[in-house]
Amino acid sequence: MDADILIIGSGAGGGTLARALADSGLRILILERGDFLPREWGNWEPDTVFREHRYHTNEQWRDGEGQPFSPVTGYHVGGNTKFYGAAVLRRREKDFAVRQHRDGPTRPWPIAYEDLAPHYDQAESWYFAHGLASADPTEPPRGPYPFPPIPHEAAVAEADEALRALGYHPFPLPLAIHRLEDDPTHSPCVRCPTCDGFPCLLHAKGDAEVCGVRPALTHDNVRLQTGARVRKLHCSADGRRIEAVETDKGIFRARVVVLAAGAVNSAALLLASSSEHFPTGLANRSDQVGRNYMCHLNSACMAIRPGRENRSVFQKTLALNDFYEDSGDPDYPFPLGHIQSLGKVTPGVLHAERPGLPIPATAWAASHSVDWWLTTEDLPDSNNRVTLDSDGTIRLHWQPRNRESHRRLCEKWRQMLHRVGFLAVFFQPMDISATAHQVGTCRFGEDPTDSVLDPYCKAHDLDNLYVVDASFMPSISAVNPSLTIMANALRVGAHLRRQCQDGRA
Ligand SMILES: Cc1cc2nc3c(=O)[nH]c(=O)nc-3n(C[C@H](O)[C@H](O)[C@H](O)COP(=O)(O)OP(=O)(O)OC[C@H]3O[C@@H](n4cnc5c(N)ncnc54)[C@H](O)[C@@H]3O)c2cc1C
Ligand code: SF4
Repeated sequence: MDADILIIGSGAGGGTLARALADSGLRILILERGDFLPREWGNWEPDTVFREHRYHTNEQWRDGEGQPFSPVTGYHVGGNTKFYGAAVLRRREKDFAVRQHRDGPTRPWPIAYEDLAPHYDQAESWYFAHGLASADPTEPPRGPYPFPPIPHEAAVAEADEALRALGYHPFPLPLAIHRLEDDPTHSPCVRCPTCDGFPCLLHAKGDAEVCGVRPALTHDNVRLQTGARVRKLHCSADGRRIEAVETDKGIFRARVVVLAAGAVNSAALLLASSSEHFPTGLANRSDQVGRNYMCHLNSACMAIRPGRENRSVFQKTLALNDFYEDSGDPDYPFPLGHIQSLGKVTPGVLHAERPGLPIPATAWAASHSVDWWLTTEDLPDSNNRVTLDSDGTIRLHWQPRNRESHRRLCEKWRQMLHRVGFLAVFFQPMDISATAHQVGTCRFGEDPTDSVLDPYCKAHDLDNLYVVDASFMPSISAVNPSLTIMANALRVGAHLRRQCQDGRA
């Protein structure tokens, strides 16, 4: 045995789990496909990140029609949290039950908010969460945040005030950055303009490398093997256990194997690990592996007040959940979603993303815009799924649900922005390549015939395989997924520790 617990992937799920188990004395081995993301000036250069895609994979996946596309994802220690906008929201209490949407119901979780609440507390503390408890009317019960909210700069403060004057309830966006607002001189975070979508050159973002893997590696019993892409999981002759993990760096064995390669790659790996016992994919007797892929309906929005320049540096500090529970319109009693400010769209970012536009126009637009991110809940649909083509290429079938609700959310926001003085409002919907919020491909549940994992995220079909990345979610909600992935990894970590100490794993 190379380890007691072998973790595949070091992102939000895997990195957090490694830290959760680090002081248990158990021998932990993390196998990570990528390497440490290089620390270099390009980390903060829009052209390097968004035009050259230096830190994104150059893999091509195919969509449902077989058209190739480049997924916006990367393989590094820390996973996609290296690029995340660090917005760390808890799911609402009602997100754990069935919610009725215009296009159908969500699926209930086998656990309730109270089961995750202590782990949310722990995750917020490890990941430097800043926020203001009770400011968001839809927020679940909670204590104070570890750190106070990140203050707004002038343009966002104005928007906050104007929205309040209209009777809405904006609140400070909870953020995972290591910022000491009362001691800026010694603050690791300098409030730079290149946070959302960029790696942090200063290692001040609360990502899974900084807050998960590195603290875990201070323990002698934890090892990390980079460049170890897992190719196949081999099960035992009786089909009950993972016996060997095949990687580019050789074969590894462990008592317990935890898959945390991200929702798309974890499903792809299980499908690629078919065998005599599991002809349609490992742990796939339910035929649910790869199905129910969800990714949010997301749109970026630029709102421009022609006479007013926006000099914000760090803009991502405000959020609004007034349409989270329902639209507020009597003829449309359905949730619309969540709105948060976006990292500042600078002239450099806009030019890198839209090189065809004339530079003076992009520079003017970006220096006058306040920028937003709108999110509507996607719904589980078994036809939205990850499959493998015969050449091993990932195929992602995705037709988002709830398009009408997202259209209404954007339209409402446009009208609200007009009322507070933004005359020009542009939306850019995200397409299939924007896989940032991928979840759902190995959902957990009580029933082994329609879920892949049990409520502790152990595969129903195997005794020693767990999955702790975003795959486990049976519904996505309309808030960003990372904090829930981290909290769930902590919950599963506590369970695994008990199982191993009692000799049951
Ligand atoms: C630009 C961007 C902005 C985002 N902003 C936010 C935000 O503000 N708030 C939020 O909550 N979420 C945000 N997200 C989403 C967030 O990053 C993900 O939800 C989260 O990282 C998913 O965690 P995970 O553990 O499922 O997977 P990941 O974090 O992606 O980790 C998976 C890990 O597995 C490794 N791996 C993959 N395949 C293999 C293999 N075969 N063998 C070995 N290792 C493998 C990968 O290299 C990676 O390290 C953002 C994402 C992006 C890209
Ligand atoms: S804002 Fe702070 S945490 Fe984000 S990239 Fe800049 S220095 Fe790092």
